[in-house]
Amino acid sequence: MSEDRRRITLDLPANELDALLLGAQELAKRELSAAHDGPVFETPPTAADVRQLLTSELELPLEGEQVKPLLERCARIMAAGRRTAPTFFGYVLSPAAPVGVAADLVASAANQNVTAWRSSPAATELELLTIRWLGQFVGFSDDATGVLLSGGSAANLTALVRALRERSTPETDRRSLVVYASQEAHFSVAKAAEVVGVRLRTIAVDEHWRMDVDALGRTIEEDRSAGLEPFCVVATAGTTSTGAVDPVDEIVGAAAGLWVHVDGAYGLPAAAVPSHRELFSGVEAADSVAIDAHKWLYAPLDCGVLLFKTFHPLTGHPASDGAAYLRVLADDERERFAFWDHGLELSRRFRALKLWMIFRFHGARKIAAAIANDIEMAAYMADQVRRSGDMQLLAEPSLSICCFRHRPPTLAEEHLDAHNERLLALLQRDGAVYLSNAKLRGSFALRACITNFRTTRSDVDRAIDRVRNIGGQLLESSGRTDSPMT
Ligand SMILES: *Cc1c(COP(=O)(O)O)cnc(C)c1O
Repeated sequence: MSEDRRRITLDLPANELDALLLGAQELAKRELSAAHDGPVFETPPTAADVRQLLTSELELPLEGEQVKPLLERCARIMAAGRRTAPTFFGYVLSPAAPVGVAADLVASAANQNVTAWRSSPAATELELLTIRWLGQFVGFSDDATGVLLSGGSAANLTALVRALRERSTPETDRRSLVVYASQEAHFSVAKAAEVVGVRLRTIAVDEHWRMDVDALGRTIEEDRSAGLEPFCVVATAGTTSTGAVDPVDEIVGAAAGLWVHVDGAYGLPAAAVPSHRELFSGVEAADSVAIDAHKWLYAPLDCGVLLFKTFHPLTGHPASDGAAYLRVLADDERERFAFWDHGLELSRRFRALKLWMIFRFHGARKIAAAIANDIEMAAYMADQVRRSGDMQLLAEPSLSICCFRHRPPTLAEEHLDAHNERLLALLQRDGAVYLSNAKLRGSFALRACITNFRTTRSDVDRAIDRVRNIGGQLLESSGRTDSPMT
């Protein structure tokens, strides 16, 4: 027997494995409760603090260590991180639903490689199934198909590759191909256009930050007259700055014949909220849509979803012209199915498990209700801002993003940008509440994104109070007011 034992294994004795998994479970619980109770940062670290924390990690560890000290190191590193607490409004990122955390742990332990049906039959079927569910959830298609990927950036790039396949020939000069997106589109669209080597035309937005469809129509016509080849329009359903939803139905009309991709990375889940469904009308006529489940479906990172109306391989016929190891020996069409024909990656983790478990455990109604709740919180924040005498709303929230600024009556317009910029830097150093910034018609805005199923009205109140307090202190220290703002 001993002869059959490897000299080296990375396995742990049973008791140590138990200690490791229990310890990891403890750490996971600590993170869940930190996200539950806040603060955003225990203490926001400086670069020097992080360097200090990692001084004992600089050398490559030649020898291993025990479970206990390892978990202690791990705990210290986690504690220095930012938590998606109920007052974290910085970026579009939801906290992880606990069910999704458990799913990710199990998926890692199983380590199935979801490249193709052959490699992971049930995981492949589950991925296609959850994609259909999502297509129904957002009203895109009852029979959607697609692929899970790292996030919105990967989804937009993959959609553009597919659009090229469908709307051009390999002989077309890429530099004559044009993709259209609004000024407010996410920068990943520009990146994707650059990667595939096509031109991006930026279309102006209306007063609500939605794509100006007349301008789109005119630009497409001009480009055609100039001998260029329009091939794709990217509509944004929920812009990253203000949550504006482009009028997808009108865009589909103006884009006749072009591939229409809807970048709904942030906002599209709101289409499952009955009061908001109409905002997204036209989505059902799009060719592809992107959703980030880690943004507003409460899945742990990373979980991007790209949905298509129909599947066509991105490659030629890999079974015949691909590498020999990609040749799938199966008669059944399903058994020959491979995600590598439809996305850019080969090896992929089992992302569908967390989506499936989140929807199974909570049900689609509850997920939609949680999203509706986030929208209410943003509307509440906008109300509080409107009612105050010292804050100004800079964009009416259409989904769950509220952009505003501190505007104390004593401060002149020309000082507001600098004042709010300083205020935000101090707020982010403070750790209790986290906001980010946007530039709206030239004004510096404080931006709050609410995609957190734990955020309550008092969290919103705390955020506004914090802005008021820090803004007041700034005014005092610069001597621009006679009355302290508290
Ligand atoms: C966040 C975002 C993206 C990028 O998604 P990642 O998952 O961060 O790659 C793309 N589009 C929109 C509208 C977004 O909000």
